[in-house]
Amino acid sequence: MKSIVVFCGSREGASSVYIEEAKRLGQELASRKIQLVYGGSSVGMMGAVANAVLDAGGHVIGVMPEFLDDKERSHENLTELIIVGSMHERKAKMAELGDGFMALPGGPGTLEEFFEIFTWAQLGLHKKPIGFLNINHYFNPLITLFNQMADEKFMDEKFRTMALVDTEPEGLLNQFSSYQPPKVKQYLEEDKT
Ligand code: AMP
Repeated sequence: MKSIVVFCGSREGASSVYIEEAKRLGQELASRKIQLVYGGSSVGMMGAVANAVLDAGGHVIGVMPEFLDDKERSHENLTELIIVGSMHERKAKMAELGDGFMALPGGPGTLEEFFEIFTWAQLGLHKKPIGFLNINHYFNPLITLFNQMADEKFMDEKFRTMALVDTEPEGLLNQFSSYQPPKVKQYLEEDKT
């Protein structure tokens, strides 16, 4: 696994544990020589993960829409900052660059990014691992909702556990390495053989 996309908050959260654990993820990525791909901001959880990777000598690619450059304060010392034209281009570029996708605690923006990549996996548009770094058990209500979706037959059973969950960066990255995607109808040209 060469690159991991991290979706996370542009805020720091109410407890210092969020930033501490985001930093621990950054250190773990750098020690495994996995490149970080993220939204390119210098603030909140986003800035914390990026700085931890850079401080440990790792590589970081940020993908920032031009119109958000000021508001989200682009990080000035990344290995590479890619400026794109829109939110859609940002997500498409991150999806292209990543070998796996991880959500850390964040707000609506984080969940929007997470759910797009999750639904693309459901549709067979990619087979890459997706997961939650469940810092402070932040995602427990969402995991309950995933179970509710499957129980109430609004989501196929095979997707119930497709999003991997771990409270530890090491554990989640290990799960990413051994991930086996569910069998779904493929829409990609190279899979139609
Ligand atoms: P939040 O979790 O709300 O703090 O947002 C985290 C990141 O997601 C921020 O960089 C937002 O700009 C970004 N974001 C929010 N909505 C979208 C979207 N529709 N497409 C791409 N990125 C988004």
